[in-house]
Amino acid sequence: MRRPGTDENNVQMSDVMCDFCRREWTDTRHMVEGHQGSCICSECLTVSFRILAIEKRATAPADSKCTLCLENRPAPLWASTHHPEAIACLRCVKQSAAVLQKDPDYNWRKPE
Ligand SMILES: [Zn+2]
Ligand SMILES: [Zn+2]
Repeated sequence: MRRPGTDENNVQMSDVMCDFCRREWTDTRHMVEGHQGSCICSECLTVSFRILAIEKRATAPADSKCTLCLENRPAPLWASTHHPEAIACLRCVKQSAAVLQKDPDYNWRKPE
């Protein structure tokens, strides 16, 4: 998400906030973008990946809409602990994890 009042022609790192924890994009907190400016940070990705892909648990009702792809998929969904209206589907979490892990600058690894 963008910080309210962000100049779309001149977006700064601090204007980009994770939809799931509302913290800013920094050199150590990486962001993966979803649709319409939605973002998930590396820390939330670690948490959601662990819950959805490893523990195979869902923490959001099955009929919720994913904040990242804006779709209502029949997939396990994760709701942010701090902002439960922010929801991520397994597919987005896996895709975002693959994107982040591929980037050599980030040194992020999927949780085991
Ligand atoms: Zn986050
Ligand atoms: Zn999704």
